[in-house]
Amino acid sequence: MQHVTLNNGVQMPVLGFGVFQIPPEQTEQAVTDALAAGYRLLDTAAAYGNEEAVGRAIKNSGIPREELFVTTKLWVQDAPAEDNTLRAFETSLAKLGLDHLDLYLMHQPFGDVYGQWRAMEALHREGLTKAIGVANFYPDRLIDLILNNKTAPAVNQIETHPFFQRTDYQDLMRAHGVQHQSWGGFAEGKNDLFTNPLLAEIGKEYDKSVAQVVLRWLTQRGVIAIPKSVHAARMAENIDIFDFELTGEQMAAIATLDTGNTLFFDHHDPAMVNWLAKRRVS
Ligand code: NAP
Repeated sequence: MQHVTLNNGVQMPVLGFGVFQIPPEQTEQAVTDALAAGYRLLDTAAAYGNEEAVGRAIKNSGIPREELFVTTKLWVQDAPAEDNTLRAFETSLAKLGLDHLDLYLMHQPFGDVYGQWRAMEALHREGLTKAIGVANFYPDRLIDLILNNKTAPAVNQIETHPFFQRTDYQDLMRAHGVQHQSWGGFAEGKNDLFTNPLLAEIGKEYDKSVAQVVLRWLTQRGVIAIPKSVHAARMAENIDIFDFELTGEQMAAIATLDTGNTLFFDHHDPAMVNWLAKRRVS
């Protein structure tokens, strides 16, 4: 597995396994299969409701803790958020059955963002999480967070796939030492991604599937990918991307698929902000 070095020196795998929308009763098996397939980066969240199942799979795997890279995410907290954030972190850690995290992400740029971030900085200082970062931060929010705090996020996990490539934003993040991580790398199959003619044509040259071309394209760009699947065969397929390299011409061809727009929702849309910012996860 290839790794990237985060802005605080921590090594993070370039490819991992995401568990969004895997029902809790299916999650332990899915994570067990993913670990058996070779994944070592696991991505969950308090809001996914499956941290306990992820924790059980980790425990039963017998894989040494230091070989794993575990990410979970803080849901939106009310002001003053410091205590709430520490409580939410302890709850996640207990559900996962771990004594530290590798990466703790603020899931949304909403609520008492600065109180949340100060508490996350304290958790990082205390060694309870090796790195802290954010998710779904658009450039304006990210730059403001960096300018007004001691610690810059190590990672920003944002929607990134062939139809929404975020290349300018990746350059900006790189300039500020923030690692770009993709969520929804397959766009959850939207826009007929898995049968896209260009991606399929490129895959044929290497005897690779569209999914493998997409994951290769992301990681070759230096973007961390965390594909989700509940099928062991697809998990094995999705991790088998390190024996081929896309040419500059192929990377340029894939660049033409970019629409520059989200296929899910815009974090500037007032209706969406209202929905996300008011939701609470106990
Ligand atoms: P995704 O990885 O883009 O797509 C998952 C879909 O692709 C599932 O329907 C899966 O079906 C299918 N699939 C997987 N491998 C395949 C293959 N080789 N061939 C054909 N179909 C395949 O979607 P995502 O789960 O939304 O995103 C990935 C991860 O990013 C999440 O699990 C989560 O950890 C993270 N995420 C974070 C945020 C955030 O706000 N920070 C938001 C969304 C997601 P099967 O399961 O049936 O195989």
